[in-house]
Amino acid sequence: MQSAADMRQVAVLGATGSIGTSALDVIARHPARMRASVLAAGGNVEALLALCAAHQPDHAVIAEPAAYARLRDGLREAGLDTRAHAGAEALEALVAGPACDTVVAAIVGAAGLGSTLAAARAGKRLLLANKESLVLAGELVIAAARRSGAEIVPIDSEHSAVFQCLRSCEAGGVRRIVLTASGGPFRGWDRDRLAQVTPAQAIAHPKWSMGPKISVDSATLMNKGLEVIEAHHLFGLPADRIGVLVHPQSLVHALVEYIDGSTLAQLGMPDMRTALAVGLGWPERIDSGVSGLDLLAQGRLDFEAPDPVAFPCLRLASDAMSAGGTAPAVLNAANEEAVSAFLQGRIGFLGIPALVEDALAALPAAPAGSLQALLDADADARRFTRQRIDSRTSIA
Ligand code: NAD
Ligand code: MG
Repeated sequence: MQSAADMRQVAVLGATGSIGTSALDVIARHPARMRASVLAAGGNVEALLALCAAHQPDHAVIAEPAAYARLRDGLREAGLDTRAHAGAEALEALVAGPACDTVVAAIVGAAGLGSTLAAARAGKRLLLANKESLVLAGELVIAAARRSGAEIVPIDSEHSAVFQCLRSCEAGGVRRIVLTASGGPFRGWDRDRLAQVTPAQAIAHPKWSMGPKISVDSATLMNKGLEVIEAHHLFGLPADRIGVLVHPQSLVHALVEYIDGSTLAQLGMPDMRTALAVGLGWPERIDSGVSGLDLLAQGRLDFEAPDPVAFPCLRLASDAMSAGGTAPAVLNAANEEAVSAFLQGRIGFLGIPALVEDALAALPAAPAGSLQALLDADADARRFTRQRIDSRTSIA
């Protein structure tokens, strides 16, 4: 049992989302060793208020400034001591300050970069789910964490798997890592069928329950492309030592192959609470609420190569990674805009890779010496992609 001073103080960013909810579930299982001290969300005040009533944090932050008064009044009406805040600056100050020692970075998209960087700079334990911040500015995030001593524990299931397997050997000797991909809801489909896909079909993931943006990324395989870039930054490996294998059962999350021919894999049910419990408890193992794996009940494990013709996003992401500089920022921003347009029914499913490819071709990679250069590339790619969407009534 730990004293109050040892109690882990956790800031959950993106608290109302899929990862945020899973994080709060794990935290609530360990009231003697951790608590949610800061909860932050995008625009849904009512959902944030409900979480405040359940978890009684010291601070609640809503991104949308117009929602501040409702948050403050709602907290008061509920008789809670939680202090209300609004906007990205307030969030970054709380993340960097004494209100938390651990940060679950689970905001979706490039909007998470500021708070991820703030946690990395401030030396917090950073449970990193927000992969887009690494794709956009991986060098800067990793360098900031190294300088401050911030401990990054990946929450993406594949990267958590690699993190766990790597702990078996202190002195390297890694030949390569392999990330698995479920293949998404359209595994085995050709381009003709993919052209007809609806948003409802794309967000119905066969194995994982996730937010809409990452669900679409999984359906295009862009998610795996972003994860290859994420793994490059987290584990310091070049592209040719990061493999991808389609594994429809989603039970093997990643493999690490060592130079002696030994391959270690991490297996488990597809439930993000396992990766979150690894991050919250590490180096101890704590209960996550997830049941163990019954391989007899599961029956079989299948593996196949990804289809590069039907799912070009994986190649686009590797190209952007090889080009380096601002290219991953352009890839990420164009993808976010294209996914949002697809979810709004404004473009077809195949419009997503087409728009990302166009943005990468139109905005060639430039050196990314500073955060500002990356934010400019992000803004340029969003502007370019929005114009392309607005100027065509139907794309692919
Ligand atoms: P989600 O859409 O369910 O939740 C997103 C959260 O971010 C919500 O709480 C929303 O209010 C908040 N948010 C959005 N914009 C914000 C802003 N500007 N400021 C503050 N908060 C904001 O998404 P999710 O599925 O939980 O994914 C979150 C992140 O985790 C993504 O980067 C995703 O790629 C990554 N991830 C998710 C899973 C998963 O299983 N869901 C797995 C691996 C990685
Ligand atoms: Mg993943």
